[in-house]
Amino acid sequence: MSDHLEKAAQDTRSGEPMSGQEGEMIASRLSRIRIVLINTTHPGNIGAAARAMKVMGLSSLHLVTPKIFPNAEATAMASGADDILQSAVVHESLGSALDGCPLVLGTSARLRSLPMPMLDARRAAGQALSESAAHDVAVLFGRERYGLTNEEMQRCQFLVNIPSNPAYSSLNLAQAVQIIGYELRVAAQGFSDISVPPLDWEPVDDGQMEGLFEHLEQTLLDIRFLNPKQPRRLMMRLRRLFNRARPDQNEINILRGILKASQEMSERDKTK
Ligand code: SAH
Repeated sequence: MSDHLEKAAQDTRSGEPMSGQEGEMIASRLSRIRIVLINTTHPGNIGAAARAMKVMGLSSLHLVTPKIFPNAEATAMASGADDILQSAVVHESLGSALDGCPLVLGTSARLRSLPMPMLDARRAAGQALSESAAHDVAVLFGRERYGLTNEEMQRCQFLVNIPSNPAYSSLNLAQAVQIIGYELRVAAQGFSDISVPPLDWEPVDDGQMEGLFEHLEQTLLDIRFLNPKQPRRLMMRLRRLFNRARPDQNEINILRGILKASQEMSERDKTK
């Protein structure tokens, strides 16, 4: 934790009022954490999510292809948080919402068939807050009816679960935003027991990772390692591998160089 945040944490624990500078530090860290709502059906949920965010000091709301937005119901549910709705960025694709984010967290009520690194909400908030010192972070929330798709989950470094009743684990969307927002606030104010050390390298962002995966898939087709008729779960497994590794720019350049050389070699073989 940085000195300012550590001081703010000590002050809040001891009941000392936080200084303006410390408050600003917390606000700036939270402002780097994007709340991304994907394909939301009910505009009321978008409004309620905006309110949940504002109460916790989050300000960056991104909406990917919302069904209905802007809308009076969203504004009504936002109550005093219509500024968050007004500054919400609407995207046509998930990629544009994740532009510039090296850490993407996907919230999920269910555990999926392909195991992915999982964090509970508290640990995820610690991770997000720690990384927000260095770069932007995105937290994804799925549709009301069926959550995040497998493709959307594969864009994530971690899935995040809010501990709940296993027999009935699905929270309302805005309530899930509220709990994640609360955990981020707790982490920012230093109340959390979880301390995540800063990364000592800078992972590339989502766009660079997608560039790697496209190049990798094309190369595996070119060299006939990947059979398009029977792809199995190869790309899914490779995505998981590189999402765990979180390569930096140098490593991406090396990997893409290897892919390019393999493609050139297979091209030369074909013309022989
Ligand atoms: N029926 C869907 C859940 C949709 S709830 C499903 O089973 O996946 C809408 C969104 O709220 C989810 O996509 C997720 O982003 C969030 N959410 C709801 N309950 C959650 C939980 N227990 N843990 C983490 N996220 C949750």
